[in-house]
Amino acid sequence: MKNDFLDFRSDTVTKPTAGMMDAMMHAKVGDDVFGEDETVHALEAKLAAKFNMEAGLFCPSGTMTNQIAIKCFTQPMDEVICDQTAHVYRYEIGGIAFHSGASVRLLYGERGILTPELIEPEINEENIHYPNSSLVVLENTVNKGGGSCYTLDQIAPIHHLCNIKGLKLHLDGARIFNALATTGDKAHDYGQYFDGISICLSKGLGAPVGSVLLGSKETIKKAIKIRKAFGGGMRQAGFLAAAGIYALDHHVERLKEDHKHAHALADALLGTSYVKSVMPVETNIVIFEVANGSASKIVQHFKDKGLLCNTTSSSTIRLVTHLDISAAMIDRAIDIITHLQ
Ligand SMILES: *Cc1c(COP(=O)(O)O)cnc(C)c1O
Repeated sequence: MKNDFLDFRSDTVTKPTAGMMDAMMHAKVGDDVFGEDETVHALEAKLAAKFNMEAGLFCPSGTMTNQIAIKCFTQPMDEVICDQTAHVYRYEIGGIAFHSGASVRLLYGERGILTPELIEPEINEENIHYPNSSLVVLENTVNKGGGSCYTLDQIAPIHHLCNIKGLKLHLDGARIFNALATTGDKAHDYGQYFDGISICLSKGLGAPVGSVLLGSKETIKKAIKIRKAFGGGMRQAGFLAAAGIYALDHHVERLKEDHKHAHALADALLGTSYVKSVMPVETNIVIFEVANGSASKIVQHFKDKGLLCNTTSSSTIRLVTHLDISAAMIDRAIDIITHLQ
């Protein structure tokens, strides 16, 4: 992509900063398949401690951490309960069926946010006809919900229900730090509620590669073998883990800036004639519906002016703010948005 494009397609498009590159270049590494990469271990331990979980596992992608967790927490013929917008269902290529042989029960939450009232009736009782409901997956923030977030007050009763019914609870926390920046909840309070937490370093945090799965020591022991079976065992992965450690130290506090930028974009969009509605902005994602005509046409018009974004359906468009979008770039984007009509 040309450098002067304003790239709002995703928070995955960021390039490592000079400081991050420096941390990567100087990482102490070893063969992580032999368990000998101290930088990988440091990253795993750092995130586990932060979220009050026993152990962590560094993986190449968030898809892999989610799919490993689902495989850890289900048996073939089980059923996974999640919202119909869930990344684990929509954007992981049927991986739940492919890797775990499990079926999926889809719920319809408000912007992807589930409640115990929605979940409880969908948990199967013991019956020879029914798959065994064994896992609930929550997403925080909800990508397709326009970056909507759960507070811990909403999560605690879901955990309670899962506990009573004997289901595991996994968090797809690809953008968990965005959620924490908005809700003010503490990472350390999350561990008690989840059996697994998946965290992306390559989204808002700006690392080039990598996600970490958190869980109990027993879960992570199992997860290491599944990662190997998935082809995700990495050798001198400390170079990548160093970027993750740098991101945790330098790019968490600033997420509020991305959120402020997202609000500014939403305000500008609301004032135009080609926008019908904008989903409430909670974090770094803005999803809006076009007034008439096709979303892809608007995306093309934006592109002609130097602003990149993607459609999320034939009538909706998503913009994502991130580390490589400055305040000055937001001003330019607002200028393009307001003058498009
Ligand atoms: C990006 C994302 C993932 C993981 O995606 P990868 O590209 O495989 O790292 C998982 N869940 C959500 C909600 C995401 O946005």
